[in-house]
Amino acid sequence: CGIVGYAGSVLCPSDKPLEVCLQGLERLEYRGYDSAGVALVAPGMDRVRVRKKAGRLSNLVADIESDPLPEATVAIGHTRWATNGVPNDVNAHPHSSMDGRVAIIHNGIIENASQLRLDLQAEGYRFVSGTDTEVAAKLLGKIVDAVIAETGGPDLFEAVRRLGRMLEGAFTILAIDCRQPGVVVGARHDSPLVVGLGEGENYLGSDVAAFVAYTRTAMEIDQDQAVMISAGGVTVTDFDGNVVEDPTVFEVDWD
Ligand code: GLU
Repeated sequence: CGIVGYAGSVLCPSDKPLEVCLQGLERLEYRGYDSAGVALVAPGMDRVRVRKKAGRLSNLVADIESDPLPEATVAIGHTRWATNGVPNDVNAHPHSSMDGRVAIIHNGIIENASQLRLDLQAEGYRFVSGTDTEVAAKLLGKIVDAVIAETGGPDLFEAVRRLGRMLEGAFTILAIDCRQPGVVVGARHDSPLVVGLGEGENYLGSDVAAFVAYTRTAMEIDQDQAVMISAGGVTVTDFDGNVVEDPTVFEVDWD
């Protein structure tokens, strides 16, 4: 339902990535939601750290206050409006790959999730939730491993593009990988995604409300495009990897 992402410098882990996500989710509350969650990464982590709770955002905040999350360099945050699977802690986003190295959040409905789930189960993948999103998470983990096998290194951007070509239905997706602690990757089809341009940091949101407290300069992501943000830049491509040279940049002039 609501989506926020933040990428800061890999040289300075801090509380800011978490703060940006929680603040962004609060600003997106007007959309309505039943659960909330965050995932974050800093250099040296061997897994993505995920925290999620059914109910109000304040439940998630209280949970983090009683058991604090570590400083991070990138983070993603989600408020869920359940479509596939009841609202509970397990079905809340983010969802993780089998090895816990990759996590994603998702807005929309993946129409071919049942078939993809059967295919993955036949290969030995196990599922803990009833969501279409977890199918995308397990599949992304598999694709990330395939890309590493092919190219010798992790390439979340390429993996998300391949995922985007395989999913049917409506989706805005954000993903992070503990092996690439400086980047957040997004993709969209029939569901919105916007970039917020900062200085030495960049943002993603399902709408500009997600980051308007931090920057008013925004960039549109068009249908069937993927985006990678880091502290130092933003790259937009189509799902085949062709770079979009002149994405539309605009100033947000409302509060
Ligand atoms: N279909 C997903 C789910 O039920 C995402 C729902 C949403 O857009 O929040 O978890």
